[in-house]
Amino acid sequence: MPEPQLLPSAPPEGYTAPAYKLDVPLHAVLMGSQPGQRSLPPIPPPGAPLQSLPEPVFPQRPELLGEDNPRDPDWSLPAHQRRHWTPHQIVHTLQGWLVPYMKSRVKPGDFHPLIAYLFTEWKCNLDCNYCWAFDNRVKGMNEDVARRSIDWLFDHDCRVLALMGGEPLLRPDFAHKVIYYAAKRGMWVYLPTNGRLMREDVIDKLADAGLATLNLAVDAVDIKPGLPKALAPIRNYFDYLVKRQYRYGYSVFFNVNICRNNLDDVRQLTEIARDNGIATDYHVCETPLTEQSHFRHLNDNPTYIRPEDWPLVDEVLDWLIEKQKGGYRMLNSTSRLAQMKTFMRSGMNEPWNCRAGQNSLIIRTDGSLAPCFPMYSATYDWGHIEKQKFETAQLNQMKESCQQHCFSTLNHILGYCYDDGRVIRTFFRQALRGFQGIEGNLE
Ligand code: SF4
Ligand code: SF4
Repeated sequence: MPEPQLLPSAPPEGYTAPAYKLDVPLHAVLMGSQPGQRSLPPIPPPGAPLQSLPEPVFPQRPELLGEDNPRDPDWSLPAHQRRHWTPHQIVHTLQGWLVPYMKSRVKPGDFHPLIAYLFTEWKCNLDCNYCWAFDNRVKGMNEDVARRSIDWLFDHDCRVLALMGGEPLLRPDFAHKVIYYAAKRGMWVYLPTNGRLMREDVIDKLADAGLATLNLAVDAVDIKPGLPKALAPIRNYFDYLVKRQYRYGYSVFFNVNICRNNLDDVRQLTEIARDNGIATDYHVCETPLTEQSHFRHLNDNPTYIRPEDWPLVDEVLDWLIEKQKGGYRMLNSTSRLAQMKTFMRSGMNEPWNCRAGQNSLIIRTDGSLAPCFPMYSATYDWGHIEKQKFETAQLNQMKESCQQHCFSTLNHILGYCYDDGRVIRTFFRQALRGFQGIEGNLE
C-alpha cells in the first residue's frame, strides 16, 4: 500500500482559475451568439405524433438472471485471468468499429461519424468540484429526439453510441429504452456513470438490453472534499457489476480523474481495478475550455492542480506507467500518460489530428450538434440531428487553436487510429491473438 500523500485537502484561500482556456478571438466566435441561435430539430408538425422508443422486453435472456451457477466457469473469472471473448462479441465489435471505419474511407464527404455522444441528461445527482458538465435546470432528452438521433446516426453508418450526461442513470428507465433500441439496431453501446443509481436490477436490465461497456467514473475510495464520486458508497453495486459482466458479456472499466487531492486514491483505485480484473482510464484535472456561466467552483477549488503539485502528480504518472509496463490494463498508453505531465504545465504543443465534427460528435439534450464535449456550451451553430452543418474549413481553423488546450482522450485515440496503416496493423495483431485482445494498447 503506498504511503499517504501530504497534500492539503483544502486549497489556499483566494486561488481563482481562469474562466476559460481557449484563445480570446476563437472564444468570442464560438460563444458569441445567444444559445437560442443554435438551430434545433423541428418538432413534428401539429397533429403528427412525437416518435417514441419501443418498450424494452425484459428479460430477453431469462436464463441469465438469478444466482450464480458455480458449475458454470463462464459466469465468473478469477482475478488476473484473461477474459475470453465469444465469436458473437468479436463480430459485434468489428461491426461497431472496423466496418464503419472502412466505409468512412471510401464514401464521399468528410462527415462520417464513427462514435456519437448522446447527451440524454444535463443534470447530475453529484457535484464534483472540477465538473462544469451539468446544469440541473436543463430538461433531459425526450424520446422523440433520442429515437431520431439513433436513426439518423444509423443512416450515417455510425455504430458506436455513448450515452452521456450529467448522469445518464438519473432516469434508468429512459437509459434502458435508449440502450435497448440502439442495441437492437446493432449499435455498440457505451454507458458512463457515477454508479450511485446503478442498483442491481438496473444493471440486469441494461446488460440484458445489450450494453457493451460500462465506464464507472470514480475519483476516490471514500468521499473527499470536492470529490463525491467515490467507490465506498457504491461498493455493493460495483461487486455485482464486475461479477455479472462475464455472464452478460459487457466490459467494465474505471475512469479516474487525477486531481490535486486524490493522488493516493488514484493508486488505490488502480490496485482495486487490478484485483477485480478490470481496466482503468485516467484524465488529468482541467479547468474549463470555454466559459461556463453556471459553473460555481472556479474559486478555491480543492481539485485543481497547481504548479506546486506538479512533482507529486509526476510521481503518480510515473507509477502508473510502471504498473502498465508490469501488465496492468489501462486504456491510456504509456506515452499518453507521460504526455499528461506536459499538458498540465503548458498544454499540447503539437497538432494531433483531432477528428471531432467529422468522425465524432455530440448531440445535446435538445438535438443540436457540436463537435465535442468541450464545446457543449458553445453557441456556434453546427446544425442539428437530420441536418448537420459541420464544415471542414471551419473545423480545421478552429482546431489550429483549440487543439493546443484540449486533452480529449477519445478524440486523441480516434485521431491516432484514423490511419489506414495503424488500422491494418491492429487488425492483424488482433487476428493473431484470435481477437482476444492485444498486449498493451494501440500504440
Ligand atoms: S458525476 Fe459526472 S457529471 Fe456529475 S458532477 Fe461528477 S463528473 Fe460531473
Ligand atoms: S481539439 Fe477537437 S476535441 Fe478538442 S476542443 Fe477542439 S474540436 Fe473539440
